[in-house]
Amino acid sequence: MESVEHLIVGGGPAGLRAAQVLAEAGREVLVLEKRAEIGPKTCAGGLTRKTMRELEPLGLPAAAALASIGHVAFAGGEAVALDVDTTVVHTIARRTLGRHQLEWARSAGATVCSGTPAAGIDLAARTAVAGGRPIRWRHLIGADGADSAVRRALGLPSPREYFAAEYNVPELRLEPLRIECDPDPLANGYFWVFPHARYTSLGAVAPKHLVPPSFLRRYLNGRLERLGVARDGVPFEGATLEVVYHGCHFPGDVHLVGDAAGMVSSLTAEGIYAALVTGEEVARAILEPRAPAPKTARWLRTKRRHDRLARWLARPRPRAWTLGALARAAASPALRRPLASWFLQG
Ligand SMILES: Cc1cc2nc3c(=O)[nH]c(=O)nc-3n(C[C@H](O)[C@H](O)[C@H](O)COP(=O)(O)OP(=O)(O)OC[C@H]3O[C@@H](n4cnc5c(N)ncnc54)[C@H](O)[C@@H]3O)c2cc1C
Repeated sequence: MESVEHLIVGGGPAGLRAAQVLAEAGREVLVLEKRAEIGPKTCAGGLTRKTMRELEPLGLPAAAALASIGHVAFAGGEAVALDVDTTVVHTIARRTLGRHQLEWARSAGATVCSGTPAAGIDLAARTAVAGGRPIRWRHLIGADGADSAVRRALGLPSPREYFAAEYNVPELRLEPLRIECDPDPLANGYFWVFPHARYTSLGAVAPKHLVPPSFLRRYLNGRLERLGVARDGVPFEGATLEVVYHGCHFPGDVHLVGDAAGMVSSLTAEGIYAALVTGEEVARAILEPRAPAPKTARWLRTKRRHDRLARWLARPRPRAWTLGALARAAASPALRRPLASWFLQG
């Protein structure tokens, strides 16, 4: 049976970042990605400043992402720019991000196989089946997203409480980049408009137990119609989010990173930053077991605050009161920067 030192299931931002770090240290790494192409994924592709601070030193060219000033509407009305420095959001097509990360991982020496799903994961035997052939690992990294087979093999609950969906409308640059809370239909979720260089992502996210995914499609159709955006032939794309975190390191040298670890914020649905930093820091902990993981720890503190506020906003009366207060705070120039930092910090 073929053996590999580090088997990474999933070639998204988390898996490829982990692969790059391990390969740069001279370790043997095999990444299995079930899709035919590395990169494309249902995602608005919004990169906050802290995410750009991770990607730029790795070599992401400035032209790969479009910079916009993020706006927000907490309680109806015009969306306002909270703070021009803090709320710069770059947008990148996931195909482009994947292409760059693949190049970085491969140049470091990792083997990345697309079109190769991992199946039959047996944690006790440390084996999986990759493209029909059995393979044994020394370390296994589950980077296989919200619907993670590695997470399930560990016996962890995977409720995937949130659903997010979008239309990526080609040849459209709808501005400003914005997030609009729309509490009546979306509860503690929100509607977004994320312009990219060659298309605009219009989407929405909400908790499934309060807003059925089928409703989200009707909701988005109505929003696009009111904005005068034609969606002829544009596919509706949706995916669940895992926001429940149970840890990154497990007995038997099994590790979870990114969405598989439940790292997404249930308030903002931001997950790319957490995927990159957990990919990096889990890999560093494999190389040096006592290595600190400061970015993951900081993100987990932020995520816990976000998750608490999301739970609070799921209840109608606290939601009405809090969104009103946030809208008043957003109207005050003195409060805009601290407000933006609270939502966007690492
Ligand atoms: C509609 C939507 C919009 C979003 N917008 C944003 C945003 O604007 N900004 C942001 O920061 N986050 C956003 N997110 C969240 C973001 O997409 C994720 O947090 C991020 O992609 C997580 O990266 P990951 O590497 O952990 O997982 P993924 O990107 O999901 O990668 C996992 C990979 O594993 C592969 N895989 C799964 N199972 C197997 C298997 N058995 N064998 C082999 N391969 C497998 C998958 O094909 C996939 O390529 C959004 C999410 C959704 C659904």
